[in-house]
Amino acid sequence: MGFRLANVEGRAALVRGDYYYDLEIVSNGTLGSGPMDALSSLEELSLISATLSDAEPTGNLNDVQLESPVPIPGSVFAVGLNYRKHAEESNMTIPNVPMVFSKYPSCITGPTADIDMRSDYSDFEAELVVVIGQGGKNIPVTDGWNHVAGLCVGQDFTDRAVQFNSAPPQFDLGKSLDTFGPIGPVLVSPDELDNPNSLGLECIINGEVRQKNNTSDLIFDAPTLVSYLYQLVTLKTGDLIFTGTPSGVGAPDGRFLKDGDVVTTTIEGLGSIRNVCVRGDDHPRATVVPEFIQKLIDKSSEH
Ligand code: ZN
Repeated sequence: MGFRLANVEGRAALVRGDYYYDLEIVSNGTLGSGPMDALSSLEELSLISATLSDAEPTGNLNDVQLESPVPIPGSVFAVGLNYRKHAEESNMTIPNVPMVFSKYPSCITGPTADIDMRSDYSDFEAELVVVIGQGGKNIPVTDGWNHVAGLCVGQDFTDRAVQFNSAPPQFDLGKSLDTFGPIGPVLVSPDELDNPNSLGLECIINGEVRQKNNTSDLIFDAPTLVSYLYQLVTLKTGDLIFTGTPSGVGAPDGRFLKDGDVVTTTIEGLGSIRNVCVRGDDHPRATVVPEFIQKLIDKSSEH
């Protein structure tokens, strides 16, 4: 048995059903209240979780607003083009190694945060997010899951204008605007799931299903990504890996996010995050579609 870890108003809490249990209280003070510190005590989290039926809940999840279960990650890695069907239908060659870029940690926000759009070309990417547990070096793929603290739902929001307005296009900045990395609702340890390698994933915008797939279609799955990154960089407790998105994103059809759009992202066994897109009046509004955006749409429709 594993655990479900939440961030309730800045304090770490374990979750069972609709209830949360403040970690400092339920551990009788042996563990602190910091959500980041909790990730260094994974065994204790599982042990305490097994005793929650005897404990007094701190409160009901419906009465509180959850924050990011990993509020201050050290590094945030992300992977492009990592779903097989998406790559095939885009006529892209299946990659031999993961295409890795980064989202700046400052973009990470909570599961119900508003998304602060800066242009008319913001896009959505539903993604499984891996949270690193214990660090190490040269981790074989077979040991990959043992270095994962847990999984959560994420959105790799992307400003395509920032991404494609430079030559060559760049990934990091357009995917790192403030609020462009909501994750949550809770962190779920892999052993809480029947099969952590096969999780249905869905993105619904204003009631319309825009993305639907299963993480079993990942070209590089969670343990492979963990093992690959560990060969090259030192991963630390609380680092995140956004594992890539399936087909259905907005850019190929020119269906970008609009002011007031409600983006609900759900992964089987992990729950849902729900984010409202807000287009501030202080950001410049385009009157014609910029040439580089039109090229992006034309290029996508050729496939
Ligand atoms: Zn992505």
